[in-house]
Amino acid sequence: MSSVRCTCQQVIRDTGEDLPYKARFLPDQNVESLHRSVSSALSELVSLASRNQQQEWIGKYMRKGYPMEMDTPSLIHDFIWGVVVANTGLAYECGNCGRLLIYRKTDASAKSFVPEAPSKGIFNRIPSNV
Ligand SMILES: [Zn+2]
Repeated sequence: MSSVRCTCQQVIRDTGEDLPYKARFLPDQNVESLHRSVSSALSELVSLASRNQQQEWIGKYMRKGYPMEMDTPSLIHDFIWGVVVANTGLAYECGNCGRLLIYRKTDASAKSFVPEAPSKGIFNRIPSNV
């Protein structure tokens, strides 16, 4: 999604990741399956990698054409990112009117919500020490 237009006509640009007005949301009903998918697949990766059979794991879990010689941290990053994208929706905060535009899937239209009081920065980074 490269840009979206708010009801107030403000264009909200999606230039990638680490945007203070963009968020991914994880429905609570997806939390357990996401954790189960990641922990199960990574356990399998550890087991196969210890026997130098990492490529078997890549063939099973990564898209066709994924590089077979990828380093392990990049492989884990790409796998987790894929699981996150598959289980989350996107949300944007309009910098003009403060509306939240919620997309359950990138090809669907947005549901928009107007704050009861002026609001900005709802999607700023949540401090984390992990
Ligand atoms: Zn707006």
